[in-house]
Amino acid sequence: MNNSTHSNPNPAFGAHLMAYAGIPTFMRRPASRDLEDIDVAIVGIPFDSGAASWRSGTRFGPRKIRENSLQIWGHNRVLKASPLETLNVGDYGDIAVDPTNINTTVDQIVAEVSAIIAADTQVISLGGDHSITYPLLKAHAAKYGPLAVVHFDSHTDTYRFDHVQHATPFYFGLAEGLIDKEAYIQVGIRGPVEEPNEIEDAEAQGARVLTIEQCFDMGVPAIIEAIHAHVGNRPVYVSLDIDAIDPAYAPGTGTPEVGGFTSYQMLQLVRGLRGLNTVGFDLVEVSPAYDHGDVTSILAANLVFEFLSLLALQREGA
Ligand code: MN
Ligand code: MN
Repeated sequence: MNNSTHSNPNPAFGAHLMAYAGIPTFMRRPASRDLEDIDVAIVGIPFDSGAASWRSGTRFGPRKIRENSLQIWGHNRVLKASPLETLNVGDYGDIAVDPTNINTTVDQIVAEVSAIIAADTQVISLGGDHSITYPLLKAHAAKYGPLAVVHFDSHTDTYRFDHVQHATPFYFGLAEGLIDKEAYIQVGIRGPVEEPNEIEDAEAQGARVLTIEQCFDMGVPAIIEAIHAHVGNRPVYVSLDIDAIDPAYAPGTGTPEVGGFTSYQMLQLVRGLRGLNTVGFDLVEVSPAYDHGDVTSILAANLVFEFLSLLALQREGA
């Protein structure tokens, strides 16, 4: 394969450049804040000051995911989608965050993402720790109303703390009515917990919880069925914490929990979201300093490609 036979490998910086050349934007898409005619914006949110519980470093997640997205070609063989042809995808760059002030950062994310989606551009956010999902839910709920949420994670993130951090985005999302309590599902929850009733407390707040033990008993097709049954055709926000995947496949994260999904199972689960009325996505908690051979960010980049493929199918009405 060379430039004469492979057309336009790098639209961002010229068709004469190979995929590994130039400045790394997501899948080599043009970097621009001009949202005119942009259907989907890839938005980096390099904020990790919400990672209160263990290791930090997800501020470098967006950069590394972009870098490892360069090798992804355009056609999704399984979903039969070519998202970069169906959709005009742009790389918006990163949102300005304040690492010393989470409240300021929340406001900045809400303001900027609200402006993007007001322009009828859908957002795929790259974290950053999971605290960024709280302002992302705020921005999307302001446009779409209370959201159905599909939340892949090894942690419930519904701790009843009095402040925003990466263990509380869904607590605040539920408490503030950003999430539709009839249509919120957590998938992959596992690991030792602080309190014996942690799962029950998430359920009491409005989550349907599928623990990893239930997931492995059910198998992937039944998990997908349960997700569809729970959220129906409501507007859905999808939040994927990379630690839902086993640290054997995704070690580059802040709070790894053993015994999770394989890479392939997670690809299947995301593909299984086909047919949902998805309005927003985030992928969070990639911490490159703890990674090995970039395996975590390669997986993350590919999962974002699956998100794009779902949006392409939605656009085609397929
Ligand atoms: Mn987690
Ligand atoms: Mn999380």
